[in-house]
Amino acid sequence: TAPKVVVIGGGFAGASFARAIKREDPQIAVALIEPNAHYTACPLSNAVIAGLRDMEAQHFGYAGIEADGIVHVQQKAIGIDPEQRRVVLTDEVRLSYDRLIVAPGIDMRLDAIPGYDANAAERMPHAWKAGEQTLLLRRQLEAMEDGGLVVISAPANPFRCPPGPYERASLIAHYLKANKPRSKILILDAKEAFSKQRLFEAGWAALYPGMIEWVSLSFGGAVTEVDVATRTLRTEFGDHRAAVANVIPPQRAGAIAALAGVADRTGWCPIDPVTFESRLVPNIHVLGDAVIGGAMPKSAFSANAQAKAGADAVIALLRGRDPSAPKLINTCYSLLAPDYGISIAGVYSPKDGLLAEVEGAGGTSPLDASLAERAEEAAYGEAWFDTITAEAFG
Ligand code: FAD
Repeated sequence: TAPKVVVIGGGFAGASFARAIKREDPQIAVALIEPNAHYTACPLSNAVIAGLRDMEAQHFGYAGIEADGIVHVQQKAIGIDPEQRRVVLTDEVRLSYDRLIVAPGIDMRLDAIPGYDANAAERMPHAWKAGEQTLLLRRQLEAMEDGGLVVISAPANPFRCPPGPYERASLIAHYLKANKPRSKILILDAKEAFSKQRLFEAGWAALYPGMIEWVSLSFGGAVTEVDVATRTLRTEFGDHRAAVANVIPPQRAGAIAALAGVADRTGWCPIDPVTFESRLVPNIHVLGDAVIGGAMPKSAFSANAQAKAGADAVIALLRGRDPSAPKLINTCYSLLAPDYGISIAGVYSPKDGLLAEVEGAGGTSPLDASLAERAEEAAYGEAWFDTITAEAFG
């Protein structure tokens, strides 16, 4: 009989994986478990927040995936029985597998910041899963009066999309500069440094002088508590009362990972870097943001690269061949304004049980690039989004 592969999560990792394995070995039966009728993409969602892009442009259906012969099971996985190799969908429905792929993305740690829970997120949105939260933050910015203070709190590493909070600050500044120029943005950061920092800071100085202030961990960046009623963020150095508060809390692998037993005490999922098989439970592979183990950032680009390598490895295992060590590429584009893009790239391969960065293979955009080059990178970023979404969902 044909081998059975079940994939939990139809995001960049799960959708890319399901397609890659079906294309390479059409005999394998592939089921994709995803409760939503369409996917809402995070990349470029900061442009939605800034009013530069329609939310509709972030939506992708699963018809293309179904046309490939993959079964979209529109339900949520609620449990896994690794002994019987079955995924539990509801009390009555179970799906059996030879290999299971867990690709649920992230969940917010809603216990990490006192005062910040699911209700608080309705007033101080994280907007770190695209959808209603993205639109809520957009509406709050639209409703804010000129001269208001927007506070963004960024978590410590590791978290989804390392340059994301700073891209968001940039694009919010773009909106405020044009519409509410007396307003300010304060970034409270639970770390000492961030991705593409010099490029962001140079861009802010050129595009939005005096508008964005970044506070590092040692200068009081860590938020210790929030007060929802007054939209106040507390730190050891003092309180900040925001007109709009975007609290991006610490994160962990999507809840099903812990239920499956593939998440460790950090909340993330350790894997074998050659096969992406869980270090904790056999026959289960983990892909995308849920993974921990090495230098690879949590991005849609990484999720897609891991999915393709993971598909090769799972086919090899199912067909009794030796999987080969992958080389994975990641590039993250960020927009500082509609025509001002920057990027960071890296290459990763298995080393000492981790996905290690290949030295000298990556880099960032030059600090002294011309405005024409920045405009080109902004266009590359959009072209990348069109390519990756077509590959995963088109
Ligand atoms: P997700 O895309 O979150 O997909 C997980 C899927 O699993 C979801 O569809 C969910 O519904 C489903 N799921 C969860 N639990 C279950 C369950 N129990 N049963 C069934 N299904 C389940 N990355 C880039 O490369 N470039 C960018 O420019 C970029 N910009 C970003 C900007 C922002 C503001 C943010 C927040 C992120 C950005 N990212 C970017 C990061 C990117 O969105 C993530 O890294 C990527 O989505 C990870 O893919 P994933 O498949 O692991 O998780």
